[in-house]
Amino acid sequence: MNKSDSEKIAGILECLEYQKTNKIDLADLVIVNMCSVRQSAVNRVYSFKKLFETIRIKNPNLKTALTGCFLPTDEKKFSQIFNFIFKIKDLSNLPNILIQEKDKRKQEDLKDYLSLKPKPDSLTSAYLPIMTGCNNFCSYCVVPFTRGREKSRPANDIIQEVKNLIKNGFKEIILLGQNVNSYQDEKINFPKLLQMINDIPGNFWIRFITSHPKDLSDELIKTMANCQKVTEYLHLPFQSGDNEILKKMNRGYTRQNYLKLIKKIKKYFSFKSQILEKREIALSTDIIVGFPGETKRQFKKTVKIMKKVKFDMAYLAKYSPRSGTTASLLKDDVPNCEKKRREQKLNKILTRTALKRNKKYLRKNIEILIERKEQNNIFGKTRTNKGVIIKNAPESLDLGQFINVKIIKVSPWNLQGIYQ
Ligand code: SAH
Ligand code: SF4
Repeated sequence: MNKSDSEKIAGILECLEYQKTNKIDLADLVIVNMCSVRQSAVNRVYSFKKLFETIRIKNPNLKTALTGCFLPTDEKKFSQIFNFIFKIKDLSNLPNILIQEKDKRKQEDLKDYLSLKPKPDSLTSAYLPIMTGCNNFCSYCVVPFTRGREKSRPANDIIQEVKNLIKNGFKEIILLGQNVNSYQDEKINFPKLLQMINDIPGNFWIRFITSHPKDLSDELIKTMANCQKVTEYLHLPFQSGDNEILKKMNRGYTRQNYLKLIKKIKKYFSFKSQILEKREIALSTDIIVGFPGETKRQFKKTVKIMKKVKFDMAYLAKYSPRSGTTASLLKDDVPNCEKKRREQKLNKILTRTALKRNKKYLRKNIEILIERKEQNNIFGKTRTNKGVIIKNAPESLDLGQFINVKIIKVSPWNLQGIYQ
């Protein structure tokens, strides 16, 4: 989501005729798009103070701005570091803030947040926010406070944008939202939206993040399995394997519900892989270790789920209290060294299961999308979202091309193939 927001900021700045530089000390304007999901990211923003002071010695006209996810209570402290601060949902107001220098007429093109045009970093994959905000209020999470309530983008706008992206050569559309499963535009829910995008002519892949287990309906699983363009990849955070902790987190499901869902998903997709000759579905997840009061016994339940599901990828986080959330009222009583130990334990399991999953690709012919070229090497990804490197590939291969490669080597985190 933050990456997509940065692309929107780049889109606005390009519209205002700013040019991108990779050297921060040459910039006239630096916009920091922050995330406050964890304290470590917030600390990084504070560290900019020194950097800006150093740059201003040579470049006193430097303007700095802060946006993204931050709490109103932190705004005062940040205002001592940045020239101005704006909420990401007010991004369309950015030209007004920069008004003196630039052409006013260009603002007419800039509407509300969801319909702002991004400037994608990638030439092959496009991030497309279909909704913003969140109504779930998981007890540890700051997002409902920083991004506000859920708001879905009109389906017609989304379809139009996908058509434009395909026309412009994009081959992978990544639909974004904090909880895409609860997308709703009048009678169009998320499965219907997926079906509508799948029906758009052209050769492209569809991916989406993030799904919430409590809202992942049978209708959605069936639609995913039946839509040829929807890739065999699902990010389904479970956060904890213990029911008491899940309840304290206000997640709205139990470990039994989660495991049942996984079983159902695997079943539908094994059918898809037989009929359409696709790979088995790849699963990724998010987990928080050391939530307030999490005992060793409760943590073991998380370990058990990790071992049982055998994820392809997992994003592990040590619990970090966020001010304003209900969990921040509980004592953060798992010591940092214990959180670290739990994180390392899960990481070990993940490394094992990811390698085991990747070994299934050995000696198989797989379709990949070419994303990047560097000298003679090509970097691509599979439908299941696995990175693939092809060494000494023919010059003639191009970005955005779908090719078949034979997998000859695997590690837990990527695959290596040869072009045939
Ligand atoms: N909407 C998505 C994720 C949003 S935040 C979802 O519900 O899954 C991304 C991830 O950051 C979360 O899944 C969670 O694992 C982690 N996270 C959020 N708040 C956190 C906190 N206070 N401490 C540690 N990790 C946190
Ligand atoms: Fe945060 Fe929960 Fe909403 Fe995800 S679903 S953004 S974790 S409140």
